[in-house]
Amino acid sequence: MKQTPIARELLLAGGGHSHVIFLRMLAMDPIPGLKVTLVSPETSTPYSGMLPGLIAGHYSRDEAHIDLVPLCQFAGADFIRAQVKGLDPIEQLVDIGDRPPLRYDLLSIDVGSTPAPGGLSGDGVIPVKPISLFLARWQRFLAELEENKFEHLAFVGAGAGGVELCLAVDHFFRRRPSHLIPSIQLVGEAPIMLKEFPAGVRRRFEREIAAKDVSFHANFHAVCHEDGRLYASDGRQLAADKVFCVTHASAQKWFRESGLSVDQEGFILIRETLQTDSFDNVFAVGDCASLILHKRPKAGVFAVRQGKPLYLNIRNFLHSNSLLSFRPQKHYLSLISTGAKHAVASRNGLSVGGDWVWSLKNWIDRRFMRRFSDLPAMENRPVSPLLQEFDEQMICGGCGSKVSADLLSDVIGELLGDAAPTDDAAYVDVLDGKQLIQSVDHFRSIIDDPYLQARIAVCHAFSDIYACGGQADSALAALTLPFAKPDITRGLLTQIMRGVLHQLDEEGARLLGGHTSEGVELSIGFTVNGFVEKSKAWPKSAVKPADVLILTKPLGTGTLLAANMQYRARGDWVQGAIESMLLSNREAARVLSRYNIHACTDITGFGLGGHLEEMLGQSFGAEIAVSSLPVLPGALDCLGEGLQSSLHASNRRSLRHQQSPAIFYDPQTSGGLLVALPEDEAGRCVTDLCRAGYHNAAVIGAINDSSKVSLR
Ligand SMILES: Cc1cc2nc3c(=O)[nH]c(=O)nc-3n(C[C@H](O)[C@H](O)[C@H](O)COP(=O)(O)OP(=O)(O)OC[C@H]3O[C@@H](n4cnc5c(N)ncnc54)[C@H](O)[C@@H]3O)c2cc1C
Repeated sequence: MKQTPIARELLLAGGGHSHVIFLRMLAMDPIPGLKVTLVSPETSTPYSGMLPGLIAGHYSRDEAHIDLVPLCQFAGADFIRAQVKGLDPIEQLVDIGDRPPLRYDLLSIDVGSTPAPGGLSGDGVIPVKPISLFLARWQRFLAELEENKFEHLAFVGAGAGGVELCLAVDHFFRRRPSHLIPSIQLVGEAPIMLKEFPAGVRRRFEREIAAKDVSFHANFHAVCHEDGRLYASDGRQLAADKVFCVTHASAQKWFRESGLSVDQEGFILIRETLQTDSFDNVFAVGDCASLILHKRPKAGVFAVRQGKPLYLNIRNFLHSNSLLSFRPQKHYLSLISTGAKHAVASRNGLSVGGDWVWSLKNWIDRRFMRRFSDLPAMENRPVSPLLQEFDEQMICGGCGSKVSADLLSDVIGELLGDAAPTDDAAYVDVLDGKQLIQSVDHFRSIIDDPYLQARIAVCHAFSDIYACGGQADSALAALTLPFAKPDITRGLLTQIMRGVLHQLDEEGARLLGGHTSEGVELSIGFTVNGFVEKSKAWPKSAVKPADVLILTKPLGTGTLLAANMQYRARGDWVQGAIESMLLSNREAARVLSRYNIHACTDITGFGLGGHLEEMLGQSFGAEIAVSSLPVLPGALDCLGEGLQSSLHASNRRSLRHQQSPAIFYDPQTSGGLLVALPEDEAGRCVTDLCRAGYHNAAVIGAINDSSKVSLR
């Protein structure tokens, strides 16, 4: 939620080639008042030009993929991890499955293509499209390769993609001399391979293929794959343990179902302005779209070229200016690699091949990818010398938006002296030996997705109740929504409230009421209520010497969220943090209730170090096994880069023991429970926690009476 006030919402469906260019341009030239959200099922997207090189072993996975999460951060856009399943263009809603639909004022679709229905299927068939899923399929193939010796492979589709991929796979096997090199069959429906290319290109590839013992089968219309054999419609058959399917792709079904005008194959019909034929406020680009006036093959080169006009036309549309026309060129430079570091270039009927052509292709591809990996440093640095006293790390919000512990205790101590409350949850005696536990939490938006943000806020708020050994009962919500047009506010409030209700349901709690207001940014808070039998409440600090300490969830959300704000966290790391924050402590508390818990607290803004010291008080100490601390993927990398959450430094200042590693000071949002219990119960307890879904639960140390925290 990075723009306020918000006048329009643009939804980008799919992180394809055009949309990544769009985002890059948006970063360089933002459109004030426009809130942009990218919806993508994966956090990264492959660059098609480097995919064969990735398979051949010339590139790593990261080199050939664009990480969409930091790119969105850089562009000031929100990222929602979901798959678009349908569209209601009249209500302007996008269906993303089991979550509330997303509203838009403007929609742009760049979701690529999908395998053709009725094509080859079965366990032995590996579809190459959509290319975003191909790498996972390739990795499954490699895993199977460990167990099986595939003697025969077939590639169906003798266009540029099929030829290039089959040579890349051949090269992959040749680079592993210890491995059997399977025979490779390339089959195509046409009488020749590469039928859209000039004869010179074809001849070069025929030579390449012959030199590598790849056999080409023309006029082979593959119809099924069964029992290790690939059958053609004319009865011919070939031995093939696995079949890579690189045939022409088809359109996603929901385009037609949602009332968009589509061509005969189901691809979205678009005008030269890149607007769909049916709706001015819906744009479509890349493989999923078909230009009405300019029929072209499906190729990444066009998707890339459409990125800039898409940005300009969306801008023009919003500012009521006339839109530009996109006319794709008829002739373009085509660079196809031959497996090794060798490629063939063709344009206007001419062709040339050589290692230097591959070097040129490599240079072009890497230069393209650098535009998305080498993101320039934040540009909106404060200019006033006074504001320069704050650096960007001080406003990250990845800390439960807490005020630092030392500052808080100074002020409250000064005002209330010994009567100052020491706990963040309050107990109130009620009837039948029960206590009402109340707690309040409020924080700024820490992730882009308001639905998940609301769920995380609920988990975070109820965590205090579970840390007391209580059960969730009810909540009151306090929401601040960014200034926006009423329809946008309605959509946002719907997302938040659906998230709140979903999570309250999971916690077994009711919503009693709440309050909303408008402000400069989104923030969500709750007053939560729970109950506990007085005799069963877990104190925060009644540890006993020789107790063992268990932590139920991994650390690292603070640094990962801070890094994300500075677009320096990988998308999969951020997703890992989100999944961890969405894991409620409810089940953990239920498991722990079967054990003899001496003390329990939840790890939130003051980090492991701060909450551990609260638990130990003045009289006890602990020995912590640093290597046993569960840590989220990427958290140590981010801390190593000096990427710290706002509260990190004051958490460090507030501690008595300041020698601990940086992860001790990292503030957590919806962090795990830290419990002290007798040593002989610890092993079983960790096993039970893992079974209940807390896969990172671990014994992290033991209590002693040294009144110090020591590390081993
Ligand atoms: C082996 C091979 C090599 C190729 N090499 C080249 C080449 O060198 N040059 C070239 O020009 N072309 C090449 N192509 C063609 C190229 O891959 C495609 O034309 C190109 O990827 C199309 O780009 P796009 O942006 O339309 O879609 P994609 O690149 O497929 O991107 C679509 C994105 O949308 C996401 N998505 C999919 N469905 C949904 C949904 N329902 N909701 C939300 N998000 C969704 C996907 O995760 C993905 O991130 C090659 C193809 C193959 C198979």
